[in-house]
Amino acid sequence: MSGGWRIARIAGADIIVRPSLLVMGVILVIVFAPQFESLGAGPNPYLTAVVFVLSLYVSVLLHELAHLAAALWFGMSVSSVELHLLGGETRIEGDSRHPWQELVTSIVGPVTSFVIGLAALWGAQVTSGATYSVLWSVGFINLLIAAFNMLPGLPLDGGRVLRALIWATTGSEAKGVRVAGWIGRAAALALMAIAVSMLFGEDTFAIGRALLLLAVALFLWQGASYALRQGVALARIGALRAEQLMRPETPPNDAVPISVDLKGRDLLVAMAENPSNAYALVDGRGTVVGTLFASSVDRAYREAG
Ligand SMILES: [Zn+2]
Repeated sequence: MSGGWRIARIAGADIIVRPSLLVMGVILVIVFAPQFESLGAGPNPYLTAVVFVLSLYVSVLLHELAHLAAALWFGMSVSSVELHLLGGETRIEGDSRHPWQELVTSIVGPVTSFVIGLAALWGAQVTSGATYSVLWSVGFINLLIAAFNMLPGLPLDGGRVLRALIWATTGSEAKGVRVAGWIGRAAALALMAIAVSMLFGEDTFAIGRALLLLAVALFLWQGASYALRQGVALARIGALRAEQLMRPETPPNDAVPISVDLKGRDLLVAMAENPSNAYALVDGRGTVVGTLFASSVDRAYREAG
């Protein structure tokens, strides 16, 4: 965990600003001020650029707060909302247990950016000067954020939507992670290729833009790879079945009774709620049918995949 400042606390979630956000803000002001100047936007192009960057950050925060609101609506707890170099991240504790919750929680962010984008572009229509320039830029970038985030690759919101759709249709969350994770990696490679080709551009800002794109590509690659690793764990967990791991011997007296039908995550949750070395597996009629040793589950998890 790198440093950061907590600027607020909403419904138990810390709103954290990372130092990289400030670095990014300074870069954006330096890049945008000359552009505002060339547009003749207001008496002080640097002030205009600062207002633009702050408005942009507020809209990124609103995007994250939409994720936060949806997660809270579904009863998930959110530990923090971070604003950093490449936008923001809402850390939701635990996973959504239903694909539709996952879909809604993911999609509200880009929808919020899209609505802010349209509203700002509409506002630009009825204003002029510096206000026009700021609203137009904020509107354009929010539409860009909405479109980029809806790319169907993890860790982007669109990737989470795709994962949820595959999860809903096939019943396998791990399959959704695999597909959306690999699309995320492919998108990262495509961005890297675009960034490299931009290095040979003619204009002054070509290198700056190329480096920014490269940073986005690396962030995407890391996020997609992390998701794929998690997907492997998910698949291993999904393969665990109490009945298959059952041993015929009579359970010890202190064994905790759990259902023989438990499998996957439900099995691990039941074991975590009642930590024990051995469990008495019971069938639908309450009859003990065998013993499940925690060590067998542990071994099966490590040997799977
Ligand atoms: Zn988002």
